[in-house]
Amino acid sequence: MPDLVIRQGRVLTAGKIETADVAVHGGVIVETASSLAGKFDREIDASGLLVLPGVFDAHVHFNEPGREHWEGFATGSRALAAGGGTAFIDMPLNASPPTIDRASFELKRAAGEASSVLDFALWGGLIPENLDQLEELAACGVVGFKAFMIDSGIEDFPGIDPTILRKGMKIAARLGLPVAVHAEDPTIVERRTREIRARGGKGVRDFLDSRPVESEVEAVRVALDIAGETGCSLHVVHLSCPEAIDLISTAKAEGLDVTGEVCPHHLLLNEEAMFAHGAFAKCAPPLRNEATRAAVWSRMQEGRVDCIGSDHSPAPPDMKQGADIFTMWGGIMGCQHGFLLLLDAVLDQSPDSLPEIWSHLSATPASRFGLGDRKGRIEPGYDADLILIERGVPRTIEAAELLYRHKTSPYIGEKIASRVLRSLLRGADVGLPHAHGCFLPRKI
Ligand SMILES: [Zn+2]
Repeated sequence: MPDLVIRQGRVLTAGKIETADVAVHGGVIVETASSLAGKFDREIDASGLLVLPGVFDAHVHFNEPGREHWEGFATGSRALAAGGGTAFIDMPLNASPPTIDRASFELKRAAGEASSVLDFALWGGLIPENLDQLEELAACGVVGFKAFMIDSGIEDFPGIDPTILRKGMKIAARLGLPVAVHAEDPTIVERRTREIRARGGKGVRDFLDSRPVESEVEAVRVALDIAGETGCSLHVVHLSCPEAIDLISTAKAEGLDVTGEVCPHHLLLNEEAMFAHGAFAKCAPPLRNEATRAAVWSRMQEGRVDCIGSDHSPAPPDMKQGADIFTMWGGIMGCQHGFLLLLDAVLDQSPDSLPEIWSHLSATPASRFGLGDRKGRIEPGYDADLILIERGVPRTIEAAELLYRHKTSPYIGEKIASRVLRSLLRGADVGLPHAHGCFLPRKI
């Protein structure tokens, strides 16, 4: 007998949106039907609300342990919950120590279990020094290994060259895990940066010009080659240009096991946001011009990207001040609003595409990272990780509502119409004491 029913929401289930009741027992969805008879222990009236699978955000930096003063699991997971998330995968940096071996993994897992309000999985790191630790990380249950093809900006998480990437991918292929890459070509970026700095460049335009589309395309090309050669699954994070997305589509059509991620900020914002918000809108690859942003949006609508992740990457505001944009810390704080703003845009422009697009925020990342048997769908047998969305009159996002440790974001001032009225993690209201986040080990 189900112990909870969510009644008469507009429910995204089995690839379409329909008015339905969702029955839950022991935190697991047991039935969806147009109407379920009977009285249940708990009933939630969802009429007038959109009921979606919670976002499975495969790309956050919550920076704990070691840099809780930048964010931490408590504030980060609460902000993500307010933004529609019910599960996330934390990146191996910028925690200190980074997640590069069993000991650092255990520290991070304990920190997440102590204070995350959402379920979470963990990425392991792939750096030049830890090739011998990838196997122990796999045994710990990481979803895969994240590597930087360019300097990461964090001293204890160095980038890797193609030789190390090849070695790491060979090991990852043997372990049956994907490698995720930050794809920018260091030679191109370093040459451009040197030229720009030599003539005194330190403004927003200079920074944007230092990280051109070509550097992303070149790095994606290299990563695809090595993935093909080693037989390793490849995931390319935060794609920011149509050329790179097209390379991945082509490789996929040729049979390569590759997926690509885009982020709400590359879909919603163009480089003008960086002129408006400075380092609060600084990221790498950077925000692009409007034509490029629009082309990335079209690719998403054509179903040519696999995952949409926040790349929530916070830092204290004093690291984002100064006269030289190159020396200011990058990273966009966006997990509380990016997905909801994306939802607004989809509902405004092409509501029929919502089921398909929402799968890139839920079912696809969950299954890509080994959790597709229980996360990311509103279907019998899946965890009852649901968000109830109210659509209202657009309001302006204000700093005061931000749940991040530091109340800054390039989305401040944007209009938003969607609000998460309630969210359930395995059937329990997120944020209440009995609903706490669990570590999700990847099953190999
Ligand atoms: Zn990132």
